[in-house]
Amino acid sequence: MKRKSLAITILVLVLVFASSLAYAGRGITILVNGVPLQSSVPPQEINGTVLVPLRAVSEALGCQVNWNAVTNTVTITKSIIQTPQPQQIPAFAQGAVNRWSENIKEPLINGPKDFVGVIQQALTLLAKNDYHTFLNVEAFVPTIIMADLNNGSAASSGLAGVQFDRKTFYEVCKGYTSQEVTALYAALLAHEAAHIQLHSIGLHDVVSENDREAICYLVELRIARKVGAPRQQITFMQQQVKKYINP
Ligand SMILES: [Zn+2]
Repeated sequence: MKRKSLAITILVLVLVFASSLAYAGRGITILVNGVPLQSSVPPQEINGTVLVPLRAVSEALGCQVNWNAVTNTVTITKSIIQTPQPQQIPAFAQGAVNRWSENIKEPLINGPKDFVGVIQQALTLLAKNDYHTFLNVEAFVPTIIMADLNNGSAASSGLAGVQFDRKTFYEVCKGYTSQEVTALYAALLAHEAAHIQLHSIGLHDVVSENDREAICYLVELRIARKVGAPRQQITFMQQQVKKYINP
């Protein structure tokens, strides 16, 4: 094969581009996606086969063409950007939507009478002061129970629901007025509901653990201010937000 300046004028079988090219008889026209292609070398018909300029056609199709004169190789490359296909709604997201639209209902509250009373009052307080957060608790928290967490934390949560620590609960009851206890538990519920909500909508694994706590403490802080939680507790929540934002 001759080597001289083939780069621009390489001819190639039109069959390669059969799917996206059209041509017509003598005085051959090349249409690339319906647009006539201008090229310095016209297409030719030789022995019933139509030859077209490879570079012009390839570039019109968004490809890069390289000619390697040493190896006598034509390389055509095209970076393929895949069009994202519409995805089905992931199961967890659909679950969240269903809970919202169909299954908003009172969580199952389990524990001693005084604990159940505080939680019921906390839910009522939420409903009065921040109906949206109240609905979040209703929608995303299936159960609220008292447990011996023994880990120094007042509350924890998983998809099954929220657990409040027995020891902490009674300490709080001794230290604050019943109104303050109710307000604090409303804020704690908002915090834990936010955790479950992050899970349910698929954000739990998208953000870091520190970010999750920052988000949930921000929710808790907002509710604590609205419902009149003890000042000391509000200060603690502010410190937690700072701590988790700047770990
Ligand atoms: Zn948390």
